[in-house]
Amino acid sequence: MLLSLWLKHTGERPYKCNVCPQRCISSSNLRAHQQRHLGLKVHECTICNKKFGYKISLKEHMSTHAPSSFSCDQCNSTYSRLRGLRRHLLTKHGTRKEGI
Ligand SMILES: [Zn+2]
Ligand SMILES: [Zn+2]
Ligand SMILES: [Zn+2]
Repeated sequence: MLLSLWLKHTGERPYKCNVCPQRCISSSNLRAHQQRHLGLKVHECTICNKKFGYKISLKEHMSTHAPSSFSCDQCNSTYSRLRGLRRHLLTKHGTRKEGI
């Protein structure tokens, strides 16, 4: 009963784009849709690896993980603790930020 209801609502467009919230009715449809994302830089969440077509979407998403966080200004990785960002700067970029 519940399953058939669920299928009725979601089964029509089961192919979900991994870049934007668009859903497509078939895999070929989805491929055609995803053509428009080619050349578009994919921004990936460093916490859950979710991908976004737009930087602003990723930033918005990241705020759901850590409302108040420390972000790297070189690659936009964010950390809930200053210690994490500090370590990231050292290991990934080999830089030590003055003052933090
Ligand atoms: Zn898309
Ligand atoms: Zn995420
Ligand atoms: Zn970084």
